[in-house]
Amino acid sequence: MIADFPLAEEQRFIWESAARFARDRVAPDAAKRDREHRFPFDLVSELAQLGLLGVKVQVEDGGSGADMTSYVLAISEISRACASTAVTMAVSNLVADILSRFASLDQKQRWLEPFLAGRMGPASFALSEPSSGSDAAALQMTAVRDGDAWVLNGSKQWITNGTHASFHLLFARVVDGPGPHPPGSKGITCFVVERGAKGLDAGTEERKMGLRSSNTAQLHLTDVRVPAVNVVGEVGKGYAIALSGLDTGRIGIAAQALGIMEAALAEGVRYAKERKAFGKALAEQQATQFAIADSRTDLEQSWLLTLRAAADRDRGAERTAKASSMAKLFSTEACGRVVDRMLQIHGGYGYVEDYPIERLYRDARVTRIYEGTSEVQRIVIARELLAG
Ligand SMILES: Cc1cc2nc3c(=O)[nH]c(=O)nc-3n(C[C@H](O)[C@H](O)[C@H](O)COP(=O)(O)OP(=O)(O)OC[C@H]3O[C@@H](n4cnc5c(N)ncnc54)[C@H](O)[C@@H]3O)c2cc1C
Repeated sequence: MIADFPLAEEQRFIWESAARFARDRVAPDAAKRDREHRFPFDLVSELAQLGLLGVKVQVEDGGSGADMTSYVLAISEISRACASTAVTMAVSNLVADILSRFASLDQKQRWLEPFLAGRMGPASFALSEPSSGSDAAALQMTAVRDGDAWVLNGSKQWITNGTHASFHLLFARVVDGPGPHPPGSKGITCFVVERGAKGLDAGTEERKMGLRSSNTAQLHLTDVRVPAVNVVGEVGKGYAIALSGLDTGRIGIAAQALGIMEAALAEGVRYAKERKAFGKALAEQQATQFAIADSRTDLEQSWLLTLRAAADRDRGAERTAKASSMAKLFSTEACGRVVDRMLQIHGGYGYVEDYPIERLYRDARVTRIYEGTSEVQRIVIARELLAG
């Protein structure tokens, strides 16, 4: 569908380079990496060389200076080849986006520029905790001031790139002493915590249902001293930073789901043309045709909502909470329907590793959970609609 869309020259250029890279470099080993739970270190540095770790970051800060639409196009192509590589790229862009908008010049020189140049490896966005995910403002990690440093204590859960990150963009609550602390966003502050900081343990890697070549880990912090100059933005303003990052992050996950849907539909159509039952190809059976028609309609609706959210951003909207949430909600739920229908077309062969639909089916599931579950997206949309 996107091929028929009016795209600017730069958007088409980024889309085509991402598609070429996805086809030539990301796709060939995707199934093998998944089976081996192998993190794509080489691809992360190649993504950096292509400018795909900071697509929207301005050129002066080392980014590509492109727009949100270009980012959507790029991530959908990477995801079509490998959703694990896409989530690694999505989190990198989320971190880069936040640093480019909220970090000081010194901080950008120290972390953002080398990160985007591919000299640092991956980075993480550490908001969720063992007892707070959807209700992220209830986080319990504490930061207590001690001289020219902050002392951080607590744990983070489900952190993408957690084990391999060269630095973490980490959210903790500034307090005077030990908890328990009241829920709410008061005091939440954004810190950069570097790999190897004393007291930082990048825990055990999770064994996941899907996205097996992405890395997801717990972080445990025990009396980790973080220099005061590592605070990103103002002390106490971290929650607003996280939410503003998630506005764009959610469009990225919607685009990740677009890529999975594109791949699943292509697999389903191919199989339906090959496989015969009752004397004719599945593609000639009307039930199969309906599944394909409904899936294509789901996919195109998802494209429209996602491109619309991206366009709002490109027009300069500071916050796009409702549009981002609608894109993520619809696109990820549609993705669930599409992979399910396409697996069904494969029959028993859809349930084994020999066909790509099995991996696509597993990878799709988490898109309805991370960067805010579908329920959380509905809460955001309703809140915006009912306000005022
Ligand atoms: C593979 C993976 C990678 C991730 N990467 C990151 C990362 O890089 N950084 C990071 O910070 N986090 C990350 N996450 C965490 C993710 O964002 C959370 O899992 C998600 O926000 C949901 O939180 P939870 O798991 O604690 O579920 P809960 O918040 O405990 O929710 C459980 C269920 O209750 C529902 N629910 C909760 N509240 C309500 C309500 N008010 N109304 C209706 N239903 C409700 C939820 O929708 C969900 O279905 C990742 C998670 C996974 C699985």
